[in-house]
Amino acid sequence: MTDNPTDQKAREAKKADLEAEEAENDEIRATDIVFDCPHCGHNLAIDYRGAGLQINCVDCGQPVLVPIPDGMKIDDLDLAAGELLTQLFQTRRMLLKSEQRIAELEETLGSIKVRRTELEKSRMTTLHRCAELVSMCQGGLKLQADMTTTLNRMIALIAEEQQR
Ligand SMILES: [Zn+2]
Repeated sequence: MTDNPTDQKAREAKKADLEAEEAENDEIRATDIVFDCPHCGHNLAIDYRGAGLQINCVDCGQPVLVPIPDGMKIDDLDLAAGELLTQLFQTRRMLLKSEQRIAELEETLGSIKVRRTELEKSRMTTLHRCAELVSMCQGGLKLQADMTTTLNRMIALIAEEQQR
């Protein structure tokens, strides 16, 4: 090992910085503005106070303008109390989730309706075929009855011949 104490100290400091940065990245707070870097697509989470400011992307280092959340003015961000703003952000996120859920449910409902129509159609087909089969059975029974009548008549004729 040729490390001198100064190098090692600098390395350790850098490592501590990186770890701190990583810990920050892992935890996205409700008040963070989450967006993708327009240059490299890296997912960025910035505290709401950064809205409208230019920062450098942590990944590609390019200057990026932090978006102002929909329906908010920069004045709101400066003036609003932290607690109120937290609630506002949470509400916006919940609204977004709800809208996604509604879209999903509508899609499910649509496919259920299609399936129901299909089932209705297949049920009608089944009923129609059942009616056809019943009518065929009735035809068979009538044929059998005719056959019985004919056979009985033949037996009667034979009996007449035998008595002559
Ligand atoms: Zn970037």
